[in-house]
Amino acid sequence: GTGLLAGKRGLVLGVANNRSIAWGIAKSAHAHGAELAFTYQGEALKKRVEPLARELDARVIGHCDVTDPASIDAVFAEAAKAFPEGIDFVVHCIAFSDKDELTGRYIETSEGNFTKSLLISCYSFTAIAQRAEKIMRPGGSLLTLTYYGAEKWMPHYNVMGVAKAALEASVRYLAADLGPKDIRVNAISAGPIKTLAASGIGDFRYILKWNEYNAPLRRTVTIGEVGETAAYLISDMSRGMTGEILHVDAGYHVVGMKNPEAPDL
Ligand code: NAD
Repeated sequence: GTGLLAGKRGLVLGVANNRSIAWGIAKSAHAHGAELAFTYQGEALKKRVEPLARELDARVIGHCDVTDPASIDAVFAEAAKAFPEGIDFVVHCIAFSDKDELTGRYIETSEGNFTKSLLISCYSFTAIAQRAEKIMRPGGSLLTLTYYGAEKWMPHYNVMGVAKAALEASVRYLAADLGPKDIRVNAISAGPIKTLAASGIGDFRYILKWNEYNAPLRRTVTIGEVGETAAYLISDMSRGMTGEILHVDAGYHVVGMKNPEAPDL
């Protein structure tokens, strides 16, 4: 490790398994010297998260379902106990939509799923920031994960694109609120990666192939690459940056047209 994050302590929310973006970020943060705490969503994931936590000497501070404010309070109370000196970062890698609405037309989105998707995928970051503010040290950093579907229409992304647009706006508002306390708020806009959450999106294999053929780097990105950029954003190396959305997408977001040399899909 580089020691880039030596002496930094933080929470990583959203590890479901070893393909999770949260896991890629946790591995990088640990490799650079950070001390970590994980939460898990429900008993089924506890069994997956515990052995992963052990690999990184990370604490497991309990069940957190962001639709249950009491469980958010409980894990932040645990975090305050685990890290009495305060925390330096929180990484939020949480999103959800009913997969029946991640296909077809956005216009069909139900009010129920709209509300639930925005609550879990957007408001939860603000709910977490409220708790984090109380135990975070100056120089601290909040980080969330977003996707290009927030900026442009993408097939099947639907309500999740609307939720990510709101999440990106909330990054800017939270950055303004917390900046005077020397707490920074940023997001990584990751290119498509095959994870549990992504498997709910219609035609995901096609989206991966499309990116491979059309991104400037002619490939997709890995959770390790997202992890390394996350390590930078939670480190003091990025101390002049807040309210920023950084793309880790092999350059896909700069492309305006299909690569004419790409094979047909
Ligand atoms: P993942 O399935 O590994 O992680 C999603 C996590 O969200 C899981 O750990 C799950 O437990 C958690 N979660 C869902 N509902 C929750 C709730 N009510 N309370 C607490 N936790 C809840 O998938 P991932 O792709 O690693 O997703 C992490 C983040 O990255 C998400 O915000 C996702 O939108 C974003 N992202 C993913 C991609 C991609 O292509 N995989 C691209 C850009 C952004």
